[in-house]
Amino acid sequence: MKKTMLAALMVGPGEIRMVERDIPVPGPGQALIRLEYVGVCGSDLHILEKDWGGRITAPHILGHECAGVVAGLGPGVAELAVGDRVALEPGKTCGKCEFCKTGRYNLCREVKFLAAPNTPGSPQVDGAFREYLAHDADLCFKLPDNLSTLEGALIEPLAVGFHAANQGGARPGQTAVVAGAGCIGLVSMLALRICGVARVIVLDVMDNRLAKAAELGADAAINSRDPAAAARRILELTGGRGADLAIDTSGVSAAVEQVVRALKKGANLVLVGYSPDGSLTIPLREVINNEITLKSVFRYRNIYPMAIQSAAAGLVDLKRIVTNVYPLSEAPRAMEEGLKNKAGIVKSVLKMR
Ligand SMILES: [Zn+2]
Ligand SMILES: [Zn+2]
Repeated sequence: MKKTMLAALMVGPGEIRMVERDIPVPGPGQALIRLEYVGVCGSDLHILEKDWGGRITAPHILGHECAGVVAGLGPGVAELAVGDRVALEPGKTCGKCEFCKTGRYNLCREVKFLAAPNTPGSPQVDGAFREYLAHDADLCFKLPDNLSTLEGALIEPLAVGFHAANQGGARPGQTAVVAGAGCIGLVSMLALRICGVARVIVLDVMDNRLAKAAELGADAAINSRDPAAAARRILELTGGRGADLAIDTSGVSAAVEQVVRALKKGANLVLVGYSPDGSLTIPLREVINNEITLKSVFRYRNIYPMAIQSAAAGLVDLKRIVTNVYPLSEAPRAMEEGLKNKAGIVKSVLKMR
């Protein structure tokens, strides 16, 4: 087997360079994964552009949405075999703290998450924009034969969508509004559908994203550049009552204000979208006057197995979210285009070989 691999290294703000790195050796309890597909997340683009407020520093390998094939095993791994196709859950938690012990492991302070800002002071963990990754075997979830590793890489964002639907208390027959039709907006819409939500109304300001939402089954995909017109349309669609729940994936104050106004009294609002500079504001007067329940989402917990089974059962077609596929060797171009062309690209994926 070869000793080195290709990796896409962030060497400074906005700059990615292809480098050769040693292939990692799996430690005890770890598997060596030959990655096949890695999604480009909005957070990867945020980090590349602004280093997330200095909490991620170059040199660093981005990428956390990944799937591949088991290529080797460290000592003590019985649950996987070489050749297994797996989706990787990217966060390794301590397993000992209050949050881990109560099943809310996404809140673990000691989490080591691939290519993400971890607890201040803890080391940053190189991500998955590379050919091989050594990862804890218990965070590698086997894919059924009918799911590709491309779909496997998209289980990570789908898990966020499911957590958002769960946090929003999604129930059969409801009407929901999703603000933002990027990848997370789309997977939120798909998760709401699986939870039985009858109607999903999607808002965005970019027409290509709205077209993708409509293609994937949104009942209404509304351009919210004119907020008053969008608000009227939502009221029309809900017989004047407003929606039962809303999920904001935009992290934009104007969008949050709009979804608050689109909600029925007593409804649930789930905040997923994140502004790394902390500038997101919420119209609290309207929230209180209408007794809106505010919920938020930080990644996800206990969701990979059901997300994989949902995709394998054909309840979601994850492949159709992807609009752009680049070979790993063209990661610098993929990231540059991702930063420059938000209106044209909904979801990019790196194909590792
Ligand atoms: Zn992501
Ligand atoms: Zn913990």
